[in-house]
Amino acid sequence: MVRVLILGLLLSAWSLIAAGPVHVVLWFDTEDYIEPSSDDAALRIANDLTAEGVRATFKVVGEKARVLEKRGRRDVIQALSRHAIGYHSNWHSVHPTPSEYLLHMGYLEGADEFERREAGGVADVKRIFGTQPICYGQPGSSWGPQSNLALRRLGIPVYLDEGEQVGVDEQPFWYGGLLYVFRMGKNQFRAQLNVGAEDPAAYQRFDEASARLASSGGGVISIYYHPNEFVTTEFWDAGNFSHGANPPREAWRKPHLRTADDSERCYGVLRKFVHHMKAQPGVRFVTAKDLLTLYKPAVPVTAVDRKLAAEKLAGSIGFAEVQGQSLSAADMLLALLDVKAQTVDGPTAQGSTTYSKGMIPAPAFQVAVKDAAEFVRRFHRLPNQVFIGAESLSLADFAATLAGSASGGAEVKVARGRIGFDSYFSTDGKRSFNWVIHPEGFDGGPLLDLGRLQGWTLKPARLK
Ligand SMILES: [Zn+2]
Repeated sequence: MVRVLILGLLLSAWSLIAAGPVHVVLWFDTEDYIEPSSDDAALRIANDLTAEGVRATFKVVGEKARVLEKRGRRDVIQALSRHAIGYHSNWHSVHPTPSEYLLHMGYLEGADEFERREAGGVADVKRIFGTQPICYGQPGSSWGPQSNLALRRLGIPVYLDEGEQVGVDEQPFWYGGLLYVFRMGKNQFRAQLNVGAEDPAAYQRFDEASARLASSGGGVISIYYHPNEFVTTEFWDAGNFSHGANPPREAWRKPHLRTADDSERCYGVLRKFVHHMKAQPGVRFVTAKDLLTLYKPAVPVTAVDRKLAAEKLAGSIGFAEVQGQSLSAADMLLALLDVKAQTVDGPTAQGSTTYSKGMIPAPAFQVAVKDAAEFVRRFHRLPNQVFIGAESLSLADFAATLAGSASGGAEVKVARGRIGFDSYFSTDGKRSFNWVIHPEGFDGGPLLDLGRLQGWTLKPARLK
């Protein structure tokens, strides 16, 4: 006990000295459109937090927004509107869920399909809450990389959720042009609702995480709940849509309820947890919208040094810190191509190298470089391969060859690109997409393959 106390004192003293900012993003997936008392839970939580002076982020399901409107719950809509509003898919657990419908689609086709299925929900949340949703997060683990492009088109700049498909050092990162808060590891936890009047173990975890982040320049702690958890003992969707089940609306079963006293205890657990976090020096609650202003923008603001970028890409193709800027492989490639810095998508497929010789005549390579630059300017994405006449270089081999071509000469030596960003992606398509709502044995492997191609756009987000 004394040791814990001393450790606690040391940790808080440490955080005071180092003083990197610790940002807590507290978010609520507001999704249960079946049990009406979940509406009251959302209202109560939003009002409790407002009373504490804490702003959270409520990610609202399209159908949830529509039933709030139908049930005349202006009170709930107004209470949530005092916080940031995000989007949490149109139907959440009604099949097909996003991973199910994106699984066998390519990048562009999937983005179109995501937009077709989700744009109506985004528009409803926007109309009902009077604000453009600032972030999105998938239902369960139903993730797909195609949503990145669609979300940019839908005007949603932040991806706020948890999942294990992709992540960078348990802190926010840029991926597919979106600011991702995802796979936060040690920096994602909560006070458990079912351990009593409060959860002191979570306070200790918070103190440790905030001290660690403060001492390393600052960072984000991600904490989430669902309003429905405060009023029901089971999830609203598990009894209806598990393992691919898709009953019609009239057959939907309501979840079991907590007693009023038990709900009161749950609200108390959250309130006490928030009190504890608020009381720590250097801790600030932020919304998904605040995060966009706290982090440096995705597109490099100062010109990328082409020589340094070439050195990086010739070694390993992945993100790097160059002259104080966090650069993705795509940022560096654009600089080498002399294309204006901008948000691009990665390749849509694994291109192949068919070029069989070891050297390329310099004029032929110059044509290829011009062609690649033209492709990026036109489509705002990276090509799968680049042609040398009738033969091709995969994007990775092209990038490595381009990086090594600066020295000049009559011929350019073909280099093999080494992809360095694959380690930031999950390789387990079953485990990463394991969600009780997905059909048993659902394997999201193809989505991980597609997601890995977008690793060209991956890089850590840096606090301003
Ligand atoms: Zn959800």
